[in-house]
Amino acid sequence: MSPKYKDYYSVLGISKTATQSEVKSAFRKLALKYHPDKNKGNKTAESKFKEINEANNVLSDTQKRKMYDQLGSNWQDGQNFNPSGGRSRGYRRQQYQGGFSNQNFGQADGFSDFFKSIFGFDDFNQGGQSQGFSSHYSPQGFGQNRMQSNLDMEAELDLSLEDLISGGQKVLTFNYKNPCSVCAGQGQTRNGICPTCRGSGETIAEKRIKVKIPKGIRNNSKMRLRGQGKQEAGGRSGDLYIKIHLRDNPDFAVIGDDLETNIRVMPWDAALGADISVPTLNGYVKIKLPANSHTGKMLRIRSKGLPKKDGAKGDLYARITIDIPSALNQEQTKLLKQLRDIK
Ligand SMILES: [Zn+2]
Repeated sequence: MSPKYKDYYSVLGISKTATQSEVKSAFRKLALKYHPDKNKGNKTAESKFKEINEANNVLSDTQKRKMYDQLGSNWQDGQNFNPSGGRSRGYRRQQYQGGFSNQNFGQADGFSDFFKSIFGFDDFNQGGQSQGFSSHYSPQGFGQNRMQSNLDMEAELDLSLEDLISGGQKVLTFNYKNPCSVCAGQGQTRNGICPTCRGSGETIAEKRIKVKIPKGIRNNSKMRLRGQGKQEAGGRSGDLYIKIHLRDNPDFAVIGDDLETNIRVMPWDAALGADISVPTLNGYVKIKLPANSHTGKMLRIRSKGLPKKDGAKGDLYARITIDIPSALNQEQTKLLKQLRDIK
């Protein structure tokens, strides 16, 4: 049965002709409203937030949006939508059956079956360590290399927001199971239970691998490292699938490509305007706080958000909160009393 068609335009409340900036602003507005930080324990908001993210993931990406628009609401699962043609109906269906996406990662990334049946399950496809990564839905590479084999492995990579900003490489260490070589995976030898694997037929091995952090990854992004899976005696090797887990940061909330942080300012600075320091993920930046800034005011600091796939960066939004000094000295107290008593 085909997953139900999703109208991403109506999810974001925009028209089919909406521009990229209209998509972005609609997403931002809704993401702020339904953000989990503001709706703790609210299941409806949570699923709404997921839906908004999914819609934005598709509509903010011109290539995905084009594909999606081509499908239309008469879409059927397995339909050939690749503009370059050449694939028969049902091809993709086959790939997913019993495949990786139905195992551990299928439910975890929060994207709907509809999304997965169009765009697959992974956002990132790192075509070998040296080549960086490419999106698997590019017309050429699409679907070509996605057959799963028992040589494939999965692992989860824990990253901080700072890791996304700095890019570079991370060492990933994980355990995986191998068929026991003593009993050839049988669990039994001629003398009874295999002493090496104690009858399980499997032994645990450790793998360490350097992973290049691609631009544009987010929580639950998937990467594929070709040829980094298990190796067969004959030389054939499987792929390693890595799921990204982005650690929460107490100071920065992630909203799409943008970050949001709270800034405390003194009442006189908020009233008169001032130069203030705002923390970013890589050091402080000085910005101008305009006069007459109220609590809740958002200041945008360009390009201090997260790196995007195309190399650009999202923005950082600083939300102003007006605070008072933790202790007032005598003069401050005196002046504040004067201020209070002015009619
Ligand atoms: Zn054994």
